[in-house]
Amino acid sequence: MTRGLRGGAAWLLLACGAGPAPAPDAAPAPVAATAPTAIDAAPRVAAPTTAVDAPAAPPVAGPPPPELVDLRVAVPGLRLAIGYATAENFTGAPLPGYDAPGAWAHPELASALRAVDDALAPEGLGLLVFDAYRPKRATAAMVAWARAQGRSDLLRDGYIAERSQHNRGLAIDLTLVARDTGAPLDMGGAWDAFLPESAAFAATGDALAHRKRLREAMLEHRFSPHDGEWWHFSLPHARAPVLDVVYAPAR
Ligand SMILES: [Zn+2]
Repeated sequence: MTRGLRGGAAWLLLACGAGPAPAPDAAPAPVAATAPTAIDAAPRVAAPTTAVDAPAAPPVAGPPPPELVDLRVAVPGLRLAIGYATAENFTGAPLPGYDAPGAWAHPELASALRAVDDALAPEGLGLLVFDAYRPKRATAAMVAWARAQGRSDLLRDGYIAERSQHNRGLAIDLTLVARDTGAPLDMGGAWDAFLPESAAFAATGDALAHRKRLREAMLEHRFSPHDGEWWHFSLPHARAPVLDVVYAPAR
């Protein structure tokens, strides 16, 4: 799932902290805006923070329905940055269905992702998930947002789909991280940006090499890529029902 030029630009500005002028002593913005900054390394309960007065971390999602598995359980050490559970996404608000950040998926996807993670581990690489199973109501909200914004072009151009493999737990948005620190690798563009540079090979240098490594690792384990979105992979040949189960906080 993604966003378009104007929507994406707005989100990127948000993600980069634009808006109010930064204080002169503010830390410089990261060179590569790659992801929401709150990275929750599973199976930790709380996201790491640096400010002592930071707001409490949101609750972690509870267990999935029988059709899905929790990727934090299936892939030990998997890191999450679930943008749709926060305002750090193109709509500027949490999406319906994400009452807590979580990453559930079809069991076939989970086992394939575990194999990808195992293959990357010897290289010191790990995985950071932006989105996995997506409740149907969240997809509906994205479509409604695009229409309300006069951005039907996002639907036409495939950035926002009315039906998504995410709704079946058969798609995942993710990137590479340093396995020890969780630091995202430079991919030369942000997740879920409706921009030309989101195309799989629209990068150069290290960023292009990183995209290719992610793609190669995923394709080796039966995933299919999305040429317009470097972060999106799916298992299109697997079968599963569309679901609308909400990510609810763990009790
Ligand atoms: Zn996706």
